[in-house]
Amino acid sequence: MLIVMKAHASPDDVAGVCARIESLGYRPHQMPGATRTAIGITGNPGAIDPVEFEDLPGVAEAIRVTKPYKLVSREVKSDNTQVRIGSVVIGGPDLVVIAGPCGVESREQAFDAAHAVKAAGAHLFRGGAYKPRTSPYAFQGMGIDGLKILAEIRAETGLGIVTEAIDEASLDAVCEYADCIQIGARNMQNFSLLRRAGRSKLPVLLKRGMSATLEEFLMAAEYILSEGNYNVVMCERGVRTFADHTRNTLDLSVVPAVKSLSHLPIIVDPSHGTGKRDKVTPLARAAVAVGADGLIVEVHPHPDRALSDGMQSLTPEGFRSMMSEIVQIASLVRRMGATN
Ligand code: PEP
Ligand code: MN
Repeated sequence: MLIVMKAHASPDDVAGVCARIESLGYRPHQMPGATRTAIGITGNPGAIDPVEFEDLPGVAEAIRVTKPYKLVSREVKSDNTQVRIGSVVIGGPDLVVIAGPCGVESREQAFDAAHAVKAAGAHLFRGGAYKPRTSPYAFQGMGIDGLKILAEIRAETGLGIVTEAIDEASLDAVCEYADCIQIGARNMQNFSLLRRAGRSKLPVLLKRGMSATLEEFLMAAEYILSEGNYNVVMCERGVRTFADHTRNTLDLSVVPAVKSLSHLPIIVDPSHGTGKRDKVTPLARAAVAVGADGLIVEVHPHPDRALSDGMQSLTPEGFRSMMSEIVQIASLVRRMGATN
């Protein structure tokens, strides 16, 4: 159920509707729009009678939300959501580029990567301190020491930090040091972790699971919003198919699909989406052309020595040339701001 307020409804009218929702034992979610506020309702086990709300002051109409996802849907909020990460806004007019190594491996490696991506025009820095690896014997990340290095990088370069939380304990640590919580593909349906991210104050970058349908992807975001955190950025990172010329198949068609059903911004990861260095820039260009709000790209100062995902990491030089190419596509699709 969605309560749409009249354009001139007062804050008291909105508070009155929220109080009525709470008195029924449900949760109100205020969704301010360009011209009027809407209030989503969650927590109701069945349909709610619209009569409960129609006579309250300031209410224009009470409408049923037909989709299984409610708060992420455009039915509930028609304007695009803009998510702020530090001083950077994703989902606004500017294309945002997040870049850095797959994992923080050492102070020197992470700083070298940060200086290189900043000089090339990246807006935010990425780097995992906690790595979800297929093998328990592979590099698992530096943990808290990695987070401390990331915080130093922010202090020195001014770049906001995007880094992955793999469980509830690492999520608390990420919240202490970073600017955005990344939830990885393998955790897209870790519902307790999603709920926990939903109770955090930090924005969340939610990666699509490797076999997730569009609806499952949106429902995962719904978990986060349902807990009161509306700052979610979706991320397409490739799905499993029969194709064996790439690590994953980057499903760029999901970008317009998410945008038509949801108000949330969506970015694209051409690094995990292809797994091959030479395919990252072509797919980055395509992602910008298809309307993505940004990119997340792996860059390593020495990809041949990387402890994870070296095959798909760009060199600093490769990243500079990717940036110069996407700037041209960004201007064609009127998404400026691809460089600082
Ligand atoms: C990553 O960003 O390094 C990562 C592990 O991504 P994904 O969850 O998409 O595999
Ligand atoms: Mn990686």
